[in-house]
Amino acid sequence: MNKSLHILIVEDEEKLARLEADYLQNAGFAASLLADGDTVVSWVKQYHPSLILLDLMLPGRDGLSLCREIRSFSATPIIMVTARVEEIDRLLGLEMGADDYICKPFSLREMVARVKAVLRRLQPQTEEDIARTLKLDADSFRVSAEGRDVELTTVEFQLLQALHQQPGRIFSRSRLMDLIYQDRRIVSDRTIDSHIKKLRKKLAELLPGMELVHSVYGAGYRYDPHQDNDQ
Ligand code: CA
Repeated sequence: MNKSLHILIVEDEEKLARLEADYLQNAGFAASLLADGDTVVSWVKQYHPSLILLDLMLPGRDGLSLCREIRSFSATPIIMVTARVEEIDRLLGLEMGADDYICKPFSLREMVARVKAVLRRLQPQTEEDIARTLKLDADSFRVSAEGRDVELTTVEFQLLQALHQQPGRIFSRSRLMDLIYQDRRIVSDRTIDSHIKKLRKKLAELLPGMELVHSVYGAGYRYDPHQDNDQ
């Protein structure tokens, strides 16, 4: 990992902030700490960090309004840190433009892996990534890659299409249900999980050993053509 990548940690729990900084530095990143929400925007404008780990509840401005404002002037990746896993679904619904979400308590190893995964997603495609590129045919509900193809059901196709159009973006189960079903009373979260399971099985036939549709704990699903070996 490039030594010059600079991570800004916005966290008011001092002990946790120091541990995060230690782990990131050991992984080869530079890290800076801010504990007060009011100092964040001017700091980001001045120093242009490579990625921001942003706690939701902060003294001064909260993470939500900070995320929105940073997005208005910068595409810097943001990983939102929340204390409650239930909060993630609400945050996703607000569409505030964070790139990933981590729920406390998290393992520091996982935090570093998520930072790396977000940074990797934003890097230009490698030849390996291009090999994983899927072609979707909406007339036949077939998906192809590397000269092979498989047929999907309507729902599987719609799920893949939604995820595939915005690689890296997390879709909550409820958002996916809204996209696919006219009448949500007839389906449950489990329905989405079971269609995703079948979809993954078919994609694994197409591109063995590659995981394209990832589950994000407590949040939902995302399409990501990069392999996350370190998670
Ligand atoms: Ca906090």
